[in-house]
Amino acid sequence: MTDCEPGRPLPTIDMLNAPFWEAAHDGRLVVQQCAICGGHEWTPQLVCSACLSGTLVWTPVSGQGEIYALTIVRAMQVEAMPPPYVVAIVLLDEGVHMLTNIVDADPQSVRIGQRVEIAFVQERAGISLPCFRPIGNDAGIDSPLRSSAGGGP
Ligand SMILES: [Zn+2]
Repeated sequence: MTDCEPGRPLPTIDMLNAPFWEAAHDGRLVVQQCAICGGHEWTPQLVCSACLSGTLVWTPVSGQGEIYALTIVRAMQVEAMPPPYVVAIVLLDEGVHMLTNIVDADPQSVRIGQRVEIAFVQERAGISLPCFRPIGNDAGIDSPLRSSAGGGP
């Protein structure tokens, strides 16, 4: 019973989302893509939100995108997730938004518009959560503190 184990909340896996979690377990990020109009879907749907086709196919995606919105959680919400941490909406390059956590970064350095890549976090019960981390040295690159730091000691 994973619901009774201590730790961060884990997803409920059902017939609709199982292919996503199976791919995540293998380290692959997939979303549904419409075989008729080519649009991508996230979260898992029964029909395409653009053309109402029922031919959605799980498709690998780049795993890259940019931070669309974020907040820094500073108060304890879940014992297994000590603050501060970043909750963000990432806009994947394929055009879908994912609610996620930004990891491997100082929460204060994370910015809207920052480029990020998938970073699966292994959890109990074989579940890999799709989190994202800044790409390369893109952490806080547009910080006003950095841009005004010139002029000597
Ligand atoms: Zn469609």
